[in-house]
Amino acid sequence: MAVAHSLGFPRIGGDRELKKALEAYWKHELDEAGLRQVGRQLRARHWQLQADAGIQLLPVGDFAWYDQVLSHSLMFGVIPPRFRPASGAIGLDTLFAMARGVGQRCCGGDAQAQEMTKWFDTNYHYLVPEFDAQQQFELSWTQLFEEVDEALALGHAVKPVVIGPLSYLWLGKAKGAEFDKLDLLERLLPVYGQVLERLGAQGVEWVQIDEPILALDLPQDWKNAFERAYNVLQRAPLKKLVATYFGGLEDNLGLAAVLPVDGLHIDLVRAPDQYPVILDRLPAYKVLSLGLVDGRNVWRCDLDKALAVLRHAAERLGERLWVAPSCSLLHSPVDLAREDRLDDELKSWLAFAVQKCAEVALLARAVNQPNAAEVQAALAESRAVQQARATSPRIHNPTVRARLAAITPADSRRASPFAERIAKQRAHLQLPAFPTTTIGSFPQTAAIRQARQAHRLGTLGEADYIAAMQAEIRHAVAVQEQLGLDVLVHGEAERNDMVEYFAEQLDGYAFTRFGWVQSYGSRCVKPAIIYGDLSRPRPMTVEWIRYAQQQTGKVMKGMLTGPVTMLMWSFPREDVSREVQARQLALAIRDEVCDLEAAGIRIVQIDEAAFREGLPLRRAQWQGYLDWAVEAFRLCASGVRDETQIHTHMCYSEFNDVIEAIAAMDADVITIETSRSQMELLEAFRAFDYPNEIGPGVYDIHSPRVPNTAEMVELLTKAAERIPAERLWVNPDCGLKTRGWAETEAALVNMVAAARQLRRSH
Ligand code: GLN
Ligand code: ZN
Repeated sequence: MAVAHSLGFPRIGGDRELKKALEAYWKHELDEAGLRQVGRQLRARHWQLQADAGIQLLPVGDFAWYDQVLSHSLMFGVIPPRFRPASGAIGLDTLFAMARGVGQRCCGGDAQAQEMTKWFDTNYHYLVPEFDAQQQFELSWTQLFEEVDEALALGHAVKPVVIGPLSYLWLGKAKGAEFDKLDLLERLLPVYGQVLERLGAQGVEWVQIDEPILALDLPQDWKNAFERAYNVLQRAPLKKLVATYFGGLEDNLGLAAVLPVDGLHIDLVRAPDQYPVILDRLPAYKVLSLGLVDGRNVWRCDLDKALAVLRHAAERLGERLWVAPSCSLLHSPVDLAREDRLDDELKSWLAFAVQKCAEVALLARAVNQPNAAEVQAALAESRAVQQARATSPRIHNPTVRARLAAITPADSRRASPFAERIAKQRAHLQLPAFPTTTIGSFPQTAAIRQARQAHRLGTLGEADYIAAMQAEIRHAVAVQEQLGLDVLVHGEAERNDMVEYFAEQLDGYAFTRFGWVQSYGSRCVKPAIIYGDLSRPRPMTVEWIRYAQQQTGKVMKGMLTGPVTMLMWSFPREDVSREVQARQLALAIRDEVCDLEAAGIRIVQIDEAAFREGLPLRRAQWQGYLDWAVEAFRLCASGVRDETQIHTHMCYSEFNDVIEAIAAMDADVITIETSRSQMELLEAFRAFDYPNEIGPGVYDIHSPRVPNTAEMVELLTKAAERIPAERLWVNPDCGLKTRGWAETEAALVNMVAAARQLRRSH
């Protein structure tokens, strides 16, 4: 009998109940008992939904008040001293302080939140555990055990989920005196032993231990540590399933197969090829869990395809076969049934978390009772859907395909090399040294958001909406002129989000109403879905930018989102490669760039905030990705004359290992986030002899703090030590949409003053 199980379910709730409760709690509008009540209700509902869908072993421990890695830090007592309450026990407020920081405005101290970073290659962010050389671990948080009891009391068969000791250590950061995190393993393992011991005492038969780092390139000492760690955990009185996901095991396959545990889960969506090898290497006593339903995307599973593997596995494994989603469903929207505005055809192609559970259960049944009428009907339906989708005219646009096929290498090359372009651009633009600009957005005030929403709801007519946005543009332009900025922007008032705004105007994109996915804490995103060939039916930004340019004699910069970022922050298609989708997006954006140029716009910025996060988990695959990502950017940027200046913007703080690709993008100007690294980040550009112009951010836009002129002069002086002064721009780290106008103007006054000071001294 194949067993249907799940690795984890989204915790936010179909209506984002957890988000709403958390935010109410933080605003003191809901008390702790009320918050806990919401958590309990969500867990109960989610277990029931999964059980009803046919999942036989339900995950517990996938619920978290903020983040599952943070829950583990509390469980192991990895609580930095700055968050330890002066008196009393650690509690929910300790957890929230670690997640969100404690400001002076609040309670006693002042403690900066823990760092947050991306969970592997997903758009989920976890809180980075902080370890010091003296780190001690002790069982300090009993949430997991309480939730197990809760599920058992509801009559469910449960399988608690914990992050494995090696992945947990890997994800953390060594603070203070330098030391090797791996040295902490011996101290950490006894606490894992206690956790497993206690789960066993609660009557748990199976525990799932997630070791996603097994899908990464690991140093040899980390590989060696696996056997040691699991030899210690082996003694715990319950069965252990080690779960791997987000990629193939590759060189870690042998070690994963022989770990002294009772089962192994593998991701066959991301890495289908590893199946036969693992089957051969797996010891005869072990359970093999096949991740066949995609936990990372929204497409309905091709059941026939999954079943072919499963039937084969069933013959070899018999009772030892489990079926699951590829990874936790944390990365899927909750329930497709709620979508009332998607047309039936599109809806028939999709599956969210609830539906994915049903797919997993159906696959298990198809092995166990192949002739059941219900199984036959579901397979027939799946087959019909796959066929209909493959041939649907909504997906295939021959014009787009023909255009893609006609692309030549020259399309991805500017007419002249940078040195020639920049000379023409300087003559054309007539900017001073150290030109000042901003990254695009200005404060998104309540009035702006209200106008956009009223327009969406239809209560604000088209003409009134346009007038309101034009008024915002005039205001933004007037402020920038008064501040004395050199290159102006229109302010992005009309944009809700840098991807959604464009996706809504492209053919081939679909939108959900409730397709929220947790990004971090209470923050959720609702990625658009790429379902077909992408194209631009009409210009998207030209009227706004033209209007903005008409308000000023200064240079107005057009503002677009690049193809790689559009792709990374959407749910992509699975029936064509990401490379092809990026190229389709690039052509659509290229047309927009050319239309802006034709409308008299002299600078166009193409944001690629997500360029780096597209990097595959394995180094060996980096170059393949970078090749098409760079190509897509060049394709969208190369349709213009030499005189037209192309900017790009990226906000992250790791350029060393991708600097060659960044240079290959050949943007005339790149603006980056540097203020928090004290310009250290420019070292990569200096060492590489990066040839084009750079605008290193001179102040952090994440805080309302107004930087003074002297500190920005200091940063720019540091920058000029690494980059020739004639190639430097002056700008903030990123867009200003989350800031208020008062602090924005105050900061920009000082920034312009800093640029002027540098002009005098250089
Ligand atoms: N142009 C965008 C803005 O200013 C860039 C946002 C980003 O880089 N994340 O808001
Ligand atoms: Zn940015």
